[in-house]
Formats: sequence, C-alpha cells, structure tokens
Amino acid sequence: MEQKKKVVVLGAGIGGLSAGYFLAKTGKYEVTVLEKAPVIGGLCASFEYNNFTLDYGAHKIYSVIPGVLAEIGTLMADRLLTLPKKNRLFLRGHLVDYPLKLGNLAGVLGLATFLKLGFGYAFELARGFVRRQPPDSYAGYMIQRFGRPAYELVFEPLADKVWGEPSSLHPEMARARVPASGGMEVILKLLGIKKETAETNAEFFYYPEKGFGDFPEAMKEYIEETGGRVLLNVDVRELVQAVQADGKITAIRGTADGSPAEFESDYVVSSIPLTSLGCLVFGEKDMAFLGSVEDLQFRHLVLVYVFANRSLVLEDQWIFLPEREYLFSRIFEQKQMNPDLGPANQTAICCDFTCDEDSWEWKATDGELAEKTIDGLVNAGFIEPDEVTGYLVKRTQNFYPRYDLGYVEKMHKVNRHLRVVKNLLLTGRIGMYNYNNSDHCVDMGRFIADNLAKGDEPVNIWNDLDKRVADYKIVD
Ligand SMILES: Cc1cc2nc3c(=O)[nH]c(=O)nc-3n(C[C@H](O)[C@H](O)[C@H](O)COP(=O)(O)OP(=O)(O)OC[C@H]3O[C@@H](n4cnc5c(N)ncnc54)[C@H](O)[C@@H]3O)c2cc1C
Repeated sequence: MEQKKKVVVLGAGIGGLSAGYFLAKTGKYEVTVLEKAPVIGGLCASFEYNNFTLDYGAHKIYSVIPGVLAEIGTLMADRLLTLPKKNRLFLRGHLVDYPLKLGNLAGVLGLATFLKLGFGYAFELARGFVRRQPPDSYAGYMIQRFGRPAYELVFEPLADKVWGEPSSLHPEMARARVPASGGMEVILKLLGIKKETAETNAEFFYYPEKGFGDFPEAMKEYIEETGGRVLLNVDVRELVQAVQADGKITAIRGTADGSPAEFESDYVVSSIPLTSLGCLVFGEKDMAFLGSVEDLQFRHLVLVYVFANRSLVLEDQWIFLPEREYLFSRIFEQKQMNPDLGPANQTAICCDFTCDEDSWEWKATDGELAEKTIDGLVNAGFIEPDEVTGYLVKRTQNFYPRYDLGYVEKMHKVNRHLRVVKNLLLTGRIGMYNYNNSDHCVDMGRFIADNLAKGDEPVNIWNDLDKRVADYKIVD
C-alpha cells in the first residue's frame, strides 16, 4: 500500500479543519491539525455561559458554491436544522425588509424621502449609460448601484460601523458583500417586482441543532475517526526548513500541552494569521516580509451579550442597525436558531461592534460597553431596562480583513514572499486574508485536498485558489 503523505494543518478554525477533513477524506494523507487554543472552532465555535449555548455572533450555514451545502449535509446529516431566514433592517424606529425594497421604505421614510431615493437611483441609472470608468471605491460602487440618497441613508453608515470610512475601502469589499446585479435588475428588486434569487438572498439556511460549534466539531470527529489528529494547546515555535532552494518545511516544532513536540510534514496548510506564519517562516526580524504584511488592515470584533428575563425578544434571527445613534451594527438572538439553546424564560441578545485599536469601543471597559448596548436596545424598544439580568463581553483582535484601496498590491507582496516555500498552502479567512464565510472555508479546503490528491504542485494550487476566492460572495 502507498505510504500516506504527512500534512500538518495550522489552526483548528473552520478553515484549518475543512482542509484537514477533505485531506482525510482522500485517504492519501496522514492529517495533524495543530491548534493554539484549548478549544477548536475559532470564530465558528460555540461556548457555554449561564445555561446558554452561545455563538460568536450570528452564524448561518448557507452557500451558493456548487456542492458545498450537500457536503456539509452529508457530514452533519441529522445534526442540522433547516430554518427559514428572518432578518430585517432597523430604520427610523421601524423594521424594514432586507435586502431593501422601496415599497417597504415608503411607509417608513415618508413620501419626500422615498421620492428622493427613487430620483437618486434613476439619476445613477441614467449616468450608467454614459459612464466609462468602473467604481474606484466601496462608496463609488454602492452609489452607482443604489443612488447617493440610499447610499447615505443605509449603506454608508452601516459600512462605516463595520469597516470604517467607506471612501477608503476597495470596491471589492462591496462586490463580495452585495449582490452584483446592476441596472434594471436592482430597481425591479427595490420595487419588489423581481424576487431575490438564491444567489443574492438566502431564503433558508442550515444551523447545527447544538449550536454553530457543532459544525467544526463534526469535522474534528471525522478527522479523528479516520486516523488523523487534532491537537489543542499547541505552541508552534519553529519550522524546520530544508536547506535546498525550495525551502520546504520538513517538520514543525513547538510544545503540545507544555511538552516539547515535533511534527513531520510533507505539506503544510496554514490558516493562522499571516504575520504569525511569516514570523515562523522568515524569523521575527525579516523586515522585508513584516513591512509588507504589517500594512494589511484588519478590524477588531467586540461582541456584547445582553441577557434578559423574557423567552424571546425579536421576531428575526438578526437585525442590521445602520443608524449612527446605535453603536452596534447588528443584533442577534441566539434562541431564534433553536429555543433549546437557553433557559425557557430567558434570552440572550448578541450585539456586534467592529472597531479599530484606537476606538472608544476597543478601549472601553466591559461595564461601559454594556451600558451603551443596553441603552441602545432599550431606546430602540427591543427590551425594557428591568428585564436585563446580566451581560458578557467577548473581544477578538484582527478578525476582519479590511480591504483598503491598496490591498491588492500589498497582498501580491506578501504572497511573493511566502511562495518561496514550495510545500506551503494558505486557507481560511485570516490565513488567506480573504473576507469570507465558513462555506468559503469549506470550498478552499475541498479545493486544496482535491488538487493535492491529483498530484498538483502546491504553488499551482495556490495560484488557482487565489483566482477562485476572488469570486466569493457573502450572501445575506
Ligand atoms: C460576527 C460574525 C458573523 C459571521 N457570520 C457568518 C455566517 O453567518 N455564516 C458563515 O458561514 N460565516 C460567518 N462568519 C465568518 C466565519 O466566522 C469565518 O469565515 C470563519 O470563522 C473563518 O474561519 P478560519 O478558520 O479562517 O479563522 P478562525 O475562526 O479565526 O480560526 C483560526 C484558528 O487558528 C488558531 N490559531 C491562531 N494562531 C495560531 C497559531 N500560531 N498556532 C496554531 N493555531 C493558531 C486560532 O486559535 C483559531 O482557532 C461570521 C463571522 C463573524 C465574526
């Protein structure tokens, strides 16, 4: 029998685990996944708190990539619930459909604003017939598609909260996040005449019955059942690299649960942050690499969970709040996914804040954040002050790739450096600096495993994967 090749995967978020899962499925690889934390799942994990099972913000399983949902369905079978998607936008004290429909907006905004939105859109539509240049920023992209008034009312403040100053964002940020329909199609959808499709709006989604974290858990189980390993509390300290020109990583050294450990590798798939990986490959003092990677921009995530004495507060699973008077951009009620994820007479609302290192949100104490969050929820009319029983704050640094106007050139530089290592591949959201969802991580893992198993060289797989991820879209 052919000897199995050894693959070491760095990071046990859904990116690393998907690579491990699909590699294990080929039957050709001995898979070892190394995770720094004491738990698997990264941002797709769930955790227990006060008799609730909580996720890191609203997570749904949905995909428009052929085969991905079927693959997850096969892996998780009866562990998945199928839920109709319910999410809206909170505007001027009302809940309106999202994606937007002008008909619903009319009742909420009044005739004058409604007509302004309509004219703004018609103006951009007319300009489209003579326009020669593609949009040069997120702001330009959204104005062209929805008109300036709609951009200023909804998309600008929402993008500002989530990514910071939209005019300094690359148009790719909008392309990945907003359905790419243009011209007449947008207006027909805004008017509610043409329906959204599965490519632009999820009508249903899958959700693991025991919490989103059961999804990475199912992958871990498969890897272990087929003879692979998923090791926690691993501190990766050193990559042993062949002296030959190809610089292949032949082993990974560090500690596992505090004891020295070495893992041999024919291939390495990394889903850990690029800076951490670069320091391992080039050493901490390689200014050429660090210079290129440090320019890449990220946003931090703060999640404030508010617990209340009511069985359910919302009618939606999650709600976007573009208006600036609310510091958070989205609220999510965990028990809307499955009422069994918390006590019968209580609920938990998770509020998303995305921010920079220097922002008030990042520097505020947990108590200050909770106060602002509870005020916001009360002012919006979602809860009463005396219903609140407690709060919890979770912070994650550098979780969101922020595509600024120069990010494409910066990533070229980073990739040029890293591709000197001929048996290395990147995957995942932070690992590849690709703004994506878990279904994209599944697709990346599948693509890497299928092509490696066919005998393709990692450098070619990496090039092809770069092209593939450029088309990913996040569907709300
Ligand atoms: C608020 C929010 C809502 C979202 N909604 C959805 C949704 O509805 N649907 C969806 O599909 N996706 C959603 N996503 C996106 C999804 O969470 C990400 O696509 C996914 O978690 C990325 O997985 P990853 O493995 O690339 O990264 P991560 O989850 O960040 O995992 C990286 C792993 O690497 C480990 N690690 C880091 N450094 C090292 C090291 N030196 N050595 C070893 N291990 C290391 C980390 O501990 C972590 O476990 C959402 C994300 C957020 C934040």
